[in-house]
Amino acid sequence: MKTEPILYSLTPYDPAGHRFRIEMRIARPDPEGQELRLPAWIPGSYLIRDFSRQIETINARCSGKAVAITKTGNHSWRCAPCKGTLHVEYIVYAWDLSVRGAHFDETHAFFNGTSVFLCPTGLETSRCLLHLHPPAHARNWKVYTSLPVATGRSAAARRHGFGLYEAPDYDALIDHPVEMGTPQVARFTACGAEHELVFTGVLPNLDLKRITADVKKICESQIALFEPSTLRAPFLDSADRYVFMTMVVGDGYGGLEHRSSTALMASRRDLPTIGRSEAGEAYQNFLGLVSHEYFHTWNVKRIKPAAFAPYDLSRENHTRLLWVFEGFTSYYDDLMLLRSGVIDQKTYLARLAKTISAVHRGPGRFKQSTADSSFDAWTRFYKQDENSPNALVSYYAKGSLIAAGLDMLIRRESQGQKSLDDVMRLMWTRYGRDFYQGGGAGIAEDAMPGLVQEATGVDASDFIARHTEGVEDVPLESLLASQGISLSWKPVSDAPTLDVRTRVVQNEVQLATVYEGGAGHEAGLSAGDVLVAVDGLRVTRDTNLEQILASYQAGQTVTLHVFRRDELRKFDALLRPSAPTECVLSVE
Ligand SMILES: [Zn+2]
Repeated sequence: MKTEPILYSLTPYDPAGHRFRIEMRIARPDPEGQELRLPAWIPGSYLIRDFSRQIETINARCSGKAVAITKTGNHSWRCAPCKGTLHVEYIVYAWDLSVRGAHFDETHAFFNGTSVFLCPTGLETSRCLLHLHPPAHARNWKVYTSLPVATGRSAAARRHGFGLYEAPDYDALIDHPVEMGTPQVARFTACGAEHELVFTGVLPNLDLKRITADVKKICESQIALFEPSTLRAPFLDSADRYVFMTMVVGDGYGGLEHRSSTALMASRRDLPTIGRSEAGEAYQNFLGLVSHEYFHTWNVKRIKPAAFAPYDLSRENHTRLLWVFEGFTSYYDDLMLLRSGVIDQKTYLARLAKTISAVHRGPGRFKQSTADSSFDAWTRFYKQDENSPNALVSYYAKGSLIAAGLDMLIRRESQGQKSLDDVMRLMWTRYGRDFYQGGGAGIAEDAMPGLVQEATGVDASDFIARHTEGVEDVPLESLLASQGISLSWKPVSDAPTLDVRTRVVQNEVQLATVYEGGAGHEAGLSAGDVLVAVDGLRVTRDTNLEQILASYQAGQTVTLHVFRRDELRKFDALLRPSAPTECVLSVE
């Protein structure tokens, strides 16, 4: 039976008030009363976000007459029974400047489908049509999205135009975010496939040429990794191009992956301007982000854990495998910068050393495994607080070290014949390549050791058990040595330490984290304390705290004055030598 498509129509109508109007037409609603739902979360960001709270008003009509619509849960509504076509109209407040939400003012509009499109229960697999309308004040705006235009229909959008777009089902509809406005745009092809770079925000003299050249190399290297013989880009199963949409702000960093595009947030100072030749660390971080989100086009958007195939958008979807989907992606993001020649080996090793140092700084890595951290992403990793370094491990950072370790283990055990690349290619051909074309299967929670064995002949089950279900550190020293790289540790500072992390808030030095078992913890200090003085000398900045401590030696006791809330407290702290937690990597 051929069902009628669900028609959505979206108009950004109130730029000052940041409001979208959405109209929805369902030709054959559930005769018992149509249920409508908005996702509780957005895939890729594992936190219940309650997007439904931004729906200001909603009403429904059946063949022209008003029908009752009733809230039935946090994210769901039910319309009274309707014989004929059901029309639903609602207003969404769009003022969340993040890659996860929707944002609209007189300069641009951006949205994720998860914020704006209600899903009619029972009609999830129906074809969706989306009619995009320009705001009245800016008819000259253009549309940037990987969502395909609705070819062959009278109101079909032209490339970058307003009008009709289409998606094969609801899952696809919400996986193509849309940017509208007058951004700076560059285009390139990688392995014959079209890519677009879209930058929104004020950006004088942006060096688009340089960014385009670098991103092209990264994309080509990744396509060659997964499809060495066909060089076929993965997103061609759902779009005619890949779109990088970047919102540039004064201070921001982040990204969210989609099947044929990514939404990024970057700081203006991180992007190169024309005439500046140095490739600073900040720009490398931006390219690392681009590389990370692009790698997700394979790893998590098509190769998925069974728990995400399909997503249940009404509640948390638990998997113990985010160390694969975020960790492996974090390992390959920088590695692909190296392989594509965007950074050199020295820079790569410095970036890897930084990750190793960050993981080894957190005592929480001995309390929580990366598999547990994956499962608890919803309630712990995404809800971090001052104690998180003592209690959690990052499935991103430690997951990337697990990937690095596994890669080196496979190379060592196979005498250099196999690598983690072979595992990625097996996962791709078995689960990913046809995921949106009749596949749809995900990776079982316990499948990784078997996949590694099958792809490489190496038995890594003990390694995987120790470092993902167990909390052991990855033995990087010996593994790196097998690749000709030496690892050593040095203290972060010559000065003795309180083992705390500080931040400056309104010219006051506040303790952000007190590391468990460190000098500050033993002395009785707490996160949130405002450090006033060390032995009577005023503390005003992080740097002057380090200067003050530099005139002491480990083993000496200092008197600290802090404000806890509005009460002055006094603590005596026995200073310790700065621990050797900074990793240094060098080629032997
Ligand atoms: Zn990621």
